[in-house]
Amino acid sequence: MKYISTRGQSPALSFSEILLGGLAPDGGLYLPESYPQFSDADLNAMRGMNYRELAYSILSRLIDDIPAADLKAIVDKTYVQEVYCHTRKGQNAADITPTLKLENNLYLLSLSNGPTLAFKDMAMQLLGNLFEYVLTKVGQETNILGATSGDTGSAAEYAMRSKQGIRVFMLSPHQKMSRFQTAQMFSLQAPNIFNIAVKGVFDDAQDIVKAVSNDSAFKAKHKIGAVNSINWARVAAQVVYYFKGYFAVTRSNSEQVSFAVPSGNFGNVCAGHIARMMGLPVKKLVVATNENDVLDEFFKTGVYRPRGSASTYHTSSPSMDISKASNFERFVFDLVERDAAKMRELWNKVDTGGSFDLNEGGYFAKVANYGFVSGSSNHANRMQTIRWAHEQYGVTIDTHTADGLKVALEYREPDVPMVVLETALPAKFEDAIVEALGQKPERPADLVGLEDLPQRFEVMATDVAAIKQFIVDHAH
Ligand SMILES: *Cc1c(COP(=O)(O)O)cnc(C)c1O
Repeated sequence: MKYISTRGQSPALSFSEILLGGLAPDGGLYLPESYPQFSDADLNAMRGMNYRELAYSILSRLIDDIPAADLKAIVDKTYVQEVYCHTRKGQNAADITPTLKLENNLYLLSLSNGPTLAFKDMAMQLLGNLFEYVLTKVGQETNILGATSGDTGSAAEYAMRSKQGIRVFMLSPHQKMSRFQTAQMFSLQAPNIFNIAVKGVFDDAQDIVKAVSNDSAFKAKHKIGAVNSINWARVAAQVVYYFKGYFAVTRSNSEQVSFAVPSGNFGNVCAGHIARMMGLPVKKLVVATNENDVLDEFFKTGVYRPRGSASTYHTSSPSMDISKASNFERFVFDLVERDAAKMRELWNKVDTGGSFDLNEGGYFAKVANYGFVSGSSNHANRMQTIRWAHEQYGVTIDTHTADGLKVALEYREPDVPMVVLETALPAKFEDAIVEALGQKPERPADLVGLEDLPQRFEVMATDVAAIKQFIVDHAH
């Protein structure tokens, strides 16, 4: 299996060759040159598998340059119930991504039972083990540099802590994350994790990462790596739980299932698209956005109009606050029938601050063939949905999942199970839950008192040179 770029001007590479990188050299995103296909017989064989077996069946079709036994061992040590232990009452942690039935044909798929209580753990934990394996094999090291407003940074740090050959330098906006998110990251004591609180906002932190990454000499010399959401392995890892969710709510492959996905960078729902392209009987992929509705606008009108980061709304589902959806390019590549010249034309507009309209050329009419529909949610909807789920089902959901549930309800069909992806646990967003319900959400026992633990971080100015020097001083 080789990986090709959506822009068509980079050489095809193997999985391990693209694992540690981000964008392809031509500015595109990597995708498999063709999607492996799962037949009805394959699906029957997979139906009874546990999470690890499923993950291996799927990933081994996408990764052919890691010996089978090694890949199996990596998957087996990643998806263990001790790591995904933050289950609700009545759920079985051994399922890794258990479902929760709300009512007939309406389910939550719990993806947030990992160490940081958000679904990003699902992919990041695998990435940590894959990185360690590949780096050890070639005797190399990497210094991962990233910027976070909360969820990605903590998931990366918990996945990479104490890994051989890996150091993490994570920039966050000083005093701008929630107390819980701050405590999660800053209480980590692993010596290979460096938290840098930058005196500025998230965009300042992001700009520093871009500036360092654009210095290719520095980047090469200090082996600067990234774990951002366009990383192909993160998308691949997420394909698995669509299969798991599908089998959990069906009895036979003649049944179809719809998934509702709280979306920001389009990574999660892109994995759903890929699962569908591999043969999983998915009816609808419901893209749910918050007030930052660039994706909803596209799926309703055919116009993709990214906003400047200055016009991103700060919402109560903050992990979906994006101005452009970086993984969206992967879906459009399939939509335009993998016409790389067309992709260059479209993204030439996006990369220079413009927009494009896929009604031109008749592409938008084909979106329906891929199952996509969309909707958006705002703060009032979110509060109402959290209250409604609490009253109706006695279940407390977080703000992102509430956006997913709100839009899911707009697209339910008789006899088609609707599975809402639960992308974070409510304990992560206490203030919003208190606003909606007048009471704090339950917190997993092992995280009680998290905010009182000693914290380890540096406060630094938004000064690229100083941050480069910090990396040089600590990367040895
Ligand atoms: C990252 C995140 C999302 C958005 O996922 P994408 O893959 O960027 O679309 C939604 N909810 C939560 C809680 C997240 O952390």
